[in-house]
Amino acid sequence: AEEVGGGDKEVVRDYFNNTGFQRWKKIYGETDEVNRVQKDIRIGHAKTVENAIKMLTDEGSLRGVTVCDAGCGTGSLSIPLAKEGAVVLASDISAAMVAEAENQAKEQLVAGKDELSPAPVMPKFEVSDLESLNGKYDTVVCLDVLIHYPQNKADGMIAHLASLAEKRLILSFAPKTFYYDLLKRVGELFPGPSKATRAYLHSEADVERALQKVGWRIRKRGLITTQFYFAKLVEAVPA
Ligand code: SAM
Repeated sequence: AEEVGGGDKEVVRDYFNNTGFQRWKKIYGETDEVNRVQKDIRIGHAKTVENAIKMLTDEGSLRGVTVCDAGCGTGSLSIPLAKEGAVVLASDISAAMVAEAENQAKEQLVAGKDELSPAPVMPKFEVSDLESLNGKYDTVVCLDVLIHYPQNKADGMIAHLASLAEKRLILSFAPKTFYYDLLKRVGELFPGPSKATRAYLHSEADVERALQKVGWRIRKRGLITTQFYFAKLVEAVPA
């Protein structure tokens, strides 16, 4: 797979270990300290996670299924997957995110809690950029990570994620549609202090081409939108 370099990755890592960590921990959490926009993003993201879990469980039980959650953030997906019995590798480029995900997993996955029985398998936590991951997993999932990279970097990331997946790959990205493109341009005219990183939009056709190049095809598609959150969710399988 092509190496993501040229500074994007270092900027992203630094952001998600510092201000980005504080911002996204709040958005992905449950406290009231979020503003209206953040609350809207929280709701949209929760829908993406919910839809991804639905895509995953539609094909049958996750018990014993190996899942690589690439760019796991605070564990929004990894933890519910572990509750479903999946054997999860939760990895992220940000050490702060991985530590938070691990803390939350320890709180939520303790045996006996919420009558989780049989006890879920604790995910394995790892600080790693997704380009350095190796091994094979039944399923690879990568939610809301591609937004941090331009398409020319995203192509290599998609190819690498596909190479780790044996049966399916689930990706979400911010779709490059006219409306969202416009919204983003307007946003760039008024950059807020918390918008420390660039957001890159991806066209569905480009993502599909990147998958086709490595022998994968899209089997299911979904679109999640709230007022300030837009995500295209795709499930790909070997063609
Ligand atoms: N996937 C999680 C979710 O949906 O809850 C987190 C999404 S958050 C917007 C993006 C995450 O991607 C951050 O935790 C960030 O540290 C991580 N990330 C960014 N670039 C990455 C890379 N190259 N490899 C692995 N993780 C990355």
